[in-house]
Amino acid sequence: MKTNLLFNQKTVFSFEVFPPKKTSPLETIYSTLRELGYFKPDFISVTYGAGGSLNGQTTIDIAHSVKHTYGIESVAHLPGINFDKAEMLKILHDLKCAGIDNVLALRGDISPNVPPKDDFRFASELVTFIKENGDFNVIGACYPEGHLEATTLKQDLIHLKEKVNAGTDQLISQLFFDNDYFYAFLDKAHDMDINVPIEAGIMPVTNKNQIERMVSMCGVNLPKKFKQMMEKYEHHPDAFRDAGIAYAIDQIVDLVSQNVDGIHLYTMNNSYIARRISEAVSTLLAVPKSA
Ligand code: FAD
Repeated sequence: MKTNLLFNQKTVFSFEVFPPKKTSPLETIYSTLRELGYFKPDFISVTYGAGGSLNGQTTIDIAHSVKHTYGIESVAHLPGINFDKAEMLKILHDLKCAGIDNVLALRGDISPNVPPKDDFRFASELVTFIKENGDFNVIGACYPEGHLEATTLKQDLIHLKEKVNAGTDQLISQLFFDNDYFYAFLDKAHDMDINVPIEAGIMPVTNKNQIERMVSMCGVNLPKKFKQMMEKYEHHPDAFRDAGIAYAIDQIVDLVSQNVDGIHLYTMNNSYIARRISEAVSTLLAVPKSA
């Protein structure tokens, strides 16, 4: 099923997982998926290692299992920067053979170890190519605080509009910790006639190293109350985890009350945290969206 069709019916709630690192057995992801399946997310998306660091077949295999073993709609992430058109055609063929209908088309992060190729310099070029060469629901990434490489948020939105015009059916946002950035972004996107559904990306932060890495990788702002929370609990791991979960739940309560299209939870493959959050927000998500 194409996941863009879900947004007419409800506030969409989805999860993101990543393939286990090469040093961990692949089986670990399957127990995580089994546990995540209990919360009946609308779909689960599976990342694709940056810079070609992971075999894409792993992403396809996991996305296939999400759908066919666990009965949950799946989305395969697909970064274009390290592939040429012939390689991309083969991947699209493999995705179709695996029964996958939804692709998150990305440029991908540029790795110093893997030289980028020229065919898909921007995600919009990949979106056009996928639409011309397959029957997929195409999802794109968006950045409420602007992409790190963009000179201004306005410039980034102009490129986002190009990506939507190329055929993107739905968007998932980068994580953020201040909902006001997301609401301001939605207003600007609507002013530019970007009218596809936009899910809010929420990451529960459960340890300090994780947040430091995220801030440097994504360039997101940390609100004062978030920093105070980190300082107070930094030497108390259980309290830090619980505060991080509570913070994410607060964000979701506010977002759902404001009738956002959906919530995309970056689970970090942690089914315990996904369970705590899913249980806290399930009754909210069951309330129909107001017009
Ligand atoms: P684009 O949309 O191409 O944008 C990249 C930059 O180029 C932006 O600054 C944009 O403003 C600019 N730009 C776009 N078009 C033009 C143009 N025509 N001319 C000039 N500038 C332009 N990475 C992975 O490797 N694997 C994953 O699985 C993965 N999953 C992700 C999931 C989500 C929800 C998100 C938000 C990101 C994910 N990423 C992943 C990270 C992503 O690959 C990086 O953020 C990457 O740097 C940008 O990808 P993009 O698709 O947003 O690129």
